[in-house]
Amino acid sequence: MKPAAFDYHAPADAAEAVALLSGLGEDAKIIAGGQSLVPMLALRLAVPEHLVDLRRADGLRGIERRDGVLRIGACTTQAMIERSAEVARDVPLLARATPLIGHFQIRNRGTIGGSLAHADAAAEYPAVALALGARIQARSPRGERTVPADRFFTGMWTTELAEDELLTAVDFPVRDGRAGFAIEEFARRGGDFAIAGAAVAVELDGDDRVRRCGIGLFGLGSTPLRAAAAEASVTGAAVAGIDADEVGRAAVAESGSVPADLHASADHRRHVGAVVVTRAWRRAVQEAAHA
Ligand SMILES: Cc1cc2nc3c(=O)[nH]c(=O)nc-3n(C[C@H](O)[C@H](O)[C@H](O)COP(=O)(O)OP(=O)(O)OC[C@H]3O[C@@H](n4cnc5c(N)ncnc54)[C@H](O)[C@@H]3O)c2cc1C
Repeated sequence: MKPAAFDYHAPADAAEAVALLSGLGEDAKIIAGGQSLVPMLALRLAVPEHLVDLRRADGLRGIERRDGVLRIGACTTQAMIERSAEVARDVPLLARATPLIGHFQIRNRGTIGGSLAHADAAAEYPAVALALGARIQARSPRGERTVPADRFFTGMWTTELAEDELLTAVDFPVRDGRAGFAIEEFARRGGDFAIAGAAVAVELDGDDRVRRCGIGLFGLGSTPLRAAAAEASVTGAAVAGIDADEVGRAAVAESGSVPADLHASADHRRHVGAVVVTRAWRRAVQEAAHA
């Protein structure tokens, strides 16, 4: 099938993009890398009258260290993130997650802003944003605002963004000290969306107690999930006394309605989910202990 006809707009910058969104209303849709939207257009699951293409918009691409965060512009491609020495050094969890996304052809076009705005429950970046406590920058005719990742994903493929709001950048905190990070997932084939996955970020204090823990889950609900109760259960505890299998079980117990489809039953996903959390927890703790 071919997409339905639409008018094409190529704004020069974020201000023009926001003005277009506001003027065109609900008939307009942003396109960034097109790796999620184009299949939806082709299947006519999305039939916008106007496409606002961010590809030529100035100021939405790039990676910059500022005030303890690494700011990544919304239109920065997954491939740019994969190749970035700054990301590898300052936000290693994001660097490790990126090669797990699809295939290199997809990462050459797909953007971080598109991944977060699309809010696929099985995608890697939303879970990484949750585990790291990222902050999402958005711009609309009402001004700019910051949305913490744990308030950003509001439902199936839906986010806190209003129709006339543009995701402009994402701030990832740069953690130093005794920090460790790991992402684990299970997919039937390399490049497929994961059946279940987990991103874990852990910080230890000088006495080997957990100072901070972030656990993001993907493939285990209708939205990207943060395992807040499992995080709370380990925070402040001596790491030697924490049962890694129990962390996995506790994290998955929080996912209310686990999806079932032709790839996996809900029970299988729960089982795989607990295993990947346990593995990611162990690797993150090991890295933090040796940092
Ligand atoms: C075969 C295949 C396999 C894939 N496998 C994976 C995988 O394993 N893991 C994974 O995470 N992803 C996977 N993807 C999806 C891929 O990562 C997409 O690139 C990503 O989900 C969307 O990014 P995009 O820039 O292409 O966004 P687009 O497709 O252009 O847009 C997606 C949505 O986000 C909105 N949007 C885009 N940018 C903005 C913005 N700045 N502000 C507000 N709204 C915005 C659009 O309006 C649209 O609704 C796969 C895709 C394909 C085709």
